[in-house]
Amino acid sequence: MSYVSRVVSLAMEMIQQNNLTKVTELQVEVGAMAGVVPELMEKCYRQAVAGTVLEGSILTMAPKAVTAKCDDCGTTYEPNRDNDYCCPNCRSHKSQIVGGRKVILENVVGE
Ligand SMILES: [Zn+2]
Repeated sequence: MSYVSRVVSLAMEMIQQNNLTKVTELQVEVGAMAGVVPELMEKCYRQAVAGTVLEGSILTMAPKAVTAKCDDCGTTYEPNRDNDYCCPNCRSHKSQIVGGRKVILENVVGE
């Protein structure tokens, strides 16, 4: 799973920058549109970090809703059934997805 290797290599950079010798937790944001199955992601994570400083750390996944930005008025909103998937401010259907598509590394907890 490419998300896992990307998150792990970013985490490794953070670990080096902060001179961490032990990592207890990795916090990631998982976008609703990223297509990630948490159980699978965790399994891949454990395999990817075996033998590294990240081994034994907990992978905490926080779900992130999809957010869209309206092309017409610039409002950022969460498209859903309640707002009929259009802008709650001007009812426009034209928008760009700006969040919730990826897995983002939020924080590395360690010492
Ligand atoms: Zn709008």
